Amino acid sequence: MSDETPLEPDCAKVLDNLYLFLDNEMEEATWDDVHAHIADCGPCLSEFDLERMVKELVARSCAERAPEPLRQRVMYSIRSVQVEIHKTRE
Ligand SMILES: [Zn+2]
Repeated sequence: MSDETPLEPDCAKVLDNLYLFLDNEMEEATWDDVHAHIADCGPCLSEFDLERMVKELVARSCAERAPEPLRQRVMYSIRSVQVEIHKTRE
């Protein structure tokens, strides 16, 4: 492939959009990009884990108010990333 994309701009884009990603509030194409990148990139993965933990704490503290379908969507997207991560590490 001659069209090489440097990692740094991608990482910046991913980290900029991390909260949108966690909230499932980005366009599907962008979401797929970010999802693929996180599954493949150590630094972004660490950052993602950190933000995810923060988000889980926040979600827990206001769990009574969070609409269940939204929570399930977020949990599903997190799980699917974790599956990718396990595949990548094998
Ligand atoms: Zn990255």
